[in-house]
Amino acid sequence: AYHRLHGKNVFITGASSGIGWACAERFAQAGSNVIISARRLEQLQQLETKLIADSPTSLVHTGQLDVTCKESVDTFVASIPSKLKPIDILVCNAGLVLGLDKLLDVNPQHMDTMIDTNIKGLVYCIQTLLPQMLQAGGHIVNIGSIAGREPYAKGSIYCATKHAVHAITQSLRCELIDTPVKVTEICPGMVETEFSKVRFHGDELAAKNVYKGIDPLVADDIADLVVFATSRPKHVEIADMVVFPHGQA
Ligand code: NDP
Repeated sequence: AYHRLHGKNVFITGASSGIGWACAERFAQAGSNVIISARRLEQLQQLETKLIADSPTSLVHTGQLDVTCKESVDTFVASIPSKLKPIDILVCNAGLVLGLDKLLDVNPQHMDTMIDTNIKGLVYCIQTLLPQMLQAGGHIVNIGSIAGREPYAKGSIYCATKHAVHAITQSLRCELIDTPVKVTEICPGMVETEFSKVRFHGDELAAKNVYKGIDPLVADDIADLVVFATSRPKHVEIADMVVFPHGQA
């Protein structure tokens, strides 16, 4: 079924590590052209080199993008070469958790950054790309989280941002019902990426201890689902997928 992805133009946010990186590799392996974006250009350049070596027939466009700035999203999209347009698939993956604290102790800066990245950044990317998808057809994949379904102590703000991703995805799907645009939300449980290192400000041991003896998912597990959801026949729309590592409560 992955033949349907051949030649598709796929735009991935947060491709400099983890799930976004793995999605870029999977799509390129399926013969898609990939537009990889994030704030850290050096990591993206490493990914670009790898993609070109592993999937020489895929076109790759690389650029620095901070999704929290609407203007930079617009400018970035305008700079995509025409041979990589229109965008067929948008993977809204950029996201982070900063600090996990009781509500009384929430750091306002952390709160703003999570809201700006996980909610507003996702909305900006969709708003910029949806108009062309309404013309040419397309598929939007939002990376939500199990935190968007089951809130937990000390996770109020991150959980709220991922509940917002869930709400936005569902509203959007209803709005797009009579259009050629599909919408899917993928909700992972624990995935071993740089996510926990960001949460613990680089403390690798604390990051590792999060998994409490469970074999966490890996980024490729999520990329597999993204590629699966976007390679279904035209009449099939997967609304959401929730995936846990076996053993996570
Ligand atoms: P990583 O920390 O490995 O990757 C996050 C990516 O987001 C990085 O490429 C980072 O790139 C990018 N990013 C962060 N802020 C911005 C920004 N302002 N503009 C553009 N890019 C940004 O974590 P994951 O791969 O695990 O996370 C990907 C998604 O998966 C997130 O939305 C996360 O919430 C979700 N998720 C993760 C889970 C997990 O357990 N790992 C579980 C459930 C959901 P850069 O720093 O270069 O900008």
